[in-house]
Amino acid sequence: MSKIVVIGAGVGGLAAAVRLAAAGHEVAVHESAPAVGGKLGRYERDGFVFDTGPSLLTLPQVFAELGLELDTQSLDPVVRHVFPDGTVLDSSSDPEIFLERIADTLGAGAAADWARFYHRAERIWNASWRSVLQREVTPATLAALSWRVTDLAAIAPWRSLRSLGFRYLRDPRLRMLLDRYATYTGADPRRAPAALAAIPYAELAFGGWYLPGGLSTLSTALLARCHSLGVTVTTSSPVTSVGVTAGRATGVRLASGDLVPADVVISNVDALTTYRELLPTPSRLSTLADRSLAGFVLLLGVRGATPELAHHTVFFPQNYNAEFDAVFGSVGRRARPASDPTIFVTRAADPSVHPPGAEAWFVLVNAPRHGTAYSAVDWRRPGLAAAYGAHILDLLAARGVDVRDRVEFMETRTPADLAEATGAPGGTIYGTAGGLLRPENRGPVDGFFLVGGSTHPGGGLPMVTLSAKIVATRIGPA
Ligand SMILES: Cc1cc2nc3c(=O)[nH]c(=O)nc-3n(C[C@H](O)[C@H](O)[C@H](O)COP(=O)(O)OP(=O)(O)OC[C@H]3O[C@@H](n4cnc5c(N)ncnc54)[C@H](O)[C@@H]3O)c2cc1C
Repeated sequence: MSKIVVIGAGVGGLAAAVRLAAAGHEVAVHESAPAVGGKLGRYERDGFVFDTGPSLLTLPQVFAELGLELDTQSLDPVVRHVFPDGTVLDSSSDPEIFLERIADTLGAGAAADWARFYHRAERIWNASWRSVLQREVTPATLAALSWRVTDLAAIAPWRSLRSLGFRYLRDPRLRMLLDRYATYTGADPRRAPAALAAIPYAELAFGGWYLPGGLSTLSTALLARCHSLGVTVTTSSPVTSVGVTAGRATGVRLASGDLVPADVVISNVDALTTYRELLPTPSRLSTLADRSLAGFVLLLGVRGATPELAHHTVFFPQNYNAEFDAVFGSVGRRARPASDPTIFVTRAADPSVHPPGAEAWFVLVNAPRHGTAYSAVDWRRPGLAAAYGAHILDLLAARGVDVRDRVEFMETRTPADLAEATGAPGGTIYGTAGGLLRPENRGPVDGFFLVGGSTHPGGGLPMVTLSAKIVATRIGPA
């Protein structure tokens, strides 16, 4: 049995704690915030309950492996897509139904294109599942081409998601729909690998899910599972450094000054911060992945009902490239809030998250990360968040969903707020953006590992849970 300390109680940290405690180890988790969950946040006001982070649960089988009993509800449509020309396309986790919907709205040719694309996406998913998502990926494993040749051909690390879209999809609206999946990993589709086509496949083949009471109930379930396995979880307990002696992790030092000895240390803190601030001598990350985009969030208490919205509705902009140029910055123009961004609205028909006769809206738009760099925006600039929030409501009104006179309250959550609440540098949603080579799960010293969205295999609830599986498998049973 090893004594294991986990730094951070995000989903990756809690999932690692559950797996390792179930494998017989003695596990303690130290979390700097007053509550667990990290980016999987929850906020309540006046009878409205908001998920401030994730709103779509995918790959529920990954969570079932942790012994969690989740009351998952399947969503249909998974997402309602509203294109700039007004066309509305509802996705479905039943491939036949989705093809019928595409044929009805975009024509038979578009449906045939999607069927061909979906077949390729299935190959990419199968290859990713085998070669990428459940095992460590390092420059060495990539260079050794230790994957099956057919997996390499399907994943095509040299091809971008955008170019895959052009290869299979003639209708620009389907290409837009595909491009959006790059943002699920915080990336620009023009630079993101084609391998991300595995995401729409996984979302549609295994469904999109909701948890009654909100997705944050997942962190409640993870915490309960930790407790039942004897894991100690201490909140408001920041870790200030990792102890290392003779090239081996020996424990952590807490802000209180206490030293917690351990045989193994796992960091759920962003990889960049872990390397720069927690390890004793600044260690260099072997992989320099792009930083992910961030998100600007509106939490709205809305009176009345909005029947034109599905659980998830996405409103696409006129010019998707202009949005990516704005949020990442482009040659000659620094990053800025996009004037016409994609707007993602989540509104659950769940009476436990809103007062009678009202709706709790979570509105998310892609945003530059917080900071002073060329590719960032100072989200603390007075008045910026309120003005941008009002602008988003004007844009929604122009798209036919005008709630401006039904809003009981509007709160904003900027990338600067997320950075402060969870320690994510710049408030990036996913830490590092969509590439195949992310910071490794194995740290630079023995007995030290990393889990979470900024490490392999990436961000999003199922991926961070898989990072915990990779690390727990490597550590092995007690
Ligand atoms: C607005 C938004 C929308 C999203 N939508 C979705 C979605 O629909 N579906 C989906 O699957 N994913 C979504 N995501 C992504 C998902 O939330 C994240 O990928 C995932 O929750 C990250 O988990 P993590 O394990 O990386 O830990 P994090 O959530 O990053 O948690 C890290 C934890 O470490 C703690 N910590 C930091 N420093 C220290 C320290 N020194 N000592 C102790 N503790 C420390 C932090 O307080 C935090 O609790 C969304 C995220 C955001 C922000």
